[in-house]
Amino acid sequence: KTVLIGGGSGFIGTALTNALKSKGYFVRIVSRKPGPMNLSWTELEKRGLPENCTAVISMAGQNVFDVWRRWTPGFQQNVWASRVLTTRALAAAIKHAEVKPKIFISMSGVGYYKPSDTEEYTEDSPGGDFDFLSRLAKDWEDASKLPSSCSSSVRRVIIRSGIVLGRAGGMINNLYWPFYFGVGGPVGTGQQFFPWIHIQDMVDLIIYSMETEKVSGVLNGVAPQVITNKQFAQAFGKALWRPAFIPVPRFILNAAFSEERAMIMTEGQKVIPKRTLELGFKFKFPDIDSTCKSCSSVMYAD
Ligand code: NDP
Repeated sequence: KTVLIGGGSGFIGTALTNALKSKGYFVRIVSRKPGPMNLSWTELEKRGLPENCTAVISMAGQNVFDVWRRWTPGFQQNVWASRVLTTRALAAAIKHAEVKPKIFISMSGVGYYKPSDTEEYTEDSPGGDFDFLSRLAKDWEDASKLPSSCSSSVRRVIIRSGIVLGRAGGMINNLYWPFYFGVGGPVGTGQQFFPWIHIQDMVDLIIYSMETEKVSGVLNGVAPQVITNKQFAQAFGKALWRPAFIPVPRFILNAAFSEERAMIMTEGQKVIPKRTLELGFKFKFPDIDSTCKSCSSVMYAD
């Protein structure tokens, strides 16, 4: 059984690949770089899906928080194309495959929902239409649509992910040393919601979706515990035995990242994993304290 992962060389992809291999799957990665397990995007377009491909996962994406890149229209185009065009390429390969995979899973983000201090969002809530990041999420999700000729045989799952917390990458990687040196803290007032998920749960959710026939459609990839940014800062500080009360002023992030991009940290959404739980998924890290504890250990590899 082969699983094909577009963008599988990154933070989530590496953890997912390790988990899949330990379960006996064979993994191929679509990447811009050469490698023994890799195929290029051009090869995918020319030759289509590899043999015995039973699952296709789309998770490529230019890092939005690359501090070296200004939030210019050109960079935004790159952020858009690296998600939407790669997902479209995978959907096209599925369309043309003689033997179809059983499932197509595509990542998306909770940026789909409009930040709010009062609204509560489930998978059925509206979104995708108010700013660059929400429209990006919508286009990204639409890119994974399959023609009716294969939509009945290939299950399609979209995971709207919160901030993925793990020691080996993502946000924790950026925050680890400031927090370690006791200069970490909440962003702005810290009252904004902080939708999050442990990397292990994200990996498990993807594998659960692959292996559970009844799972299809949109799933919110967030932990059931709703917290604010301040509660996250406190939990991470506590896990590292450090104070975490020095707030990062909102205007600094706006200046460093531009307001639209900084919004991911300065504003937040209250997102509930309603369908995810209804479909029977069990979180290993449902609370922020155990998550931060596992992310505080240098030994923790995933
Ligand atoms: P990474 O930043 O680790 O990147 C994933 C892969 O995307 C990279 O390994 C790279 O593969 C590929 N990539 C990067 N830039 C480009 C580009 N310009 N064109 C084509 N491919 C590119 O992502 P994560 O593993 O953290 O996340 C996976 C997906 O999930 C991403 O799309 C991300 O937006 C989404 N997501 C992640 C969250 C998080 O907190 N981590 C939260 C919500 C959504 P290669 O270099 O091999 O080509």
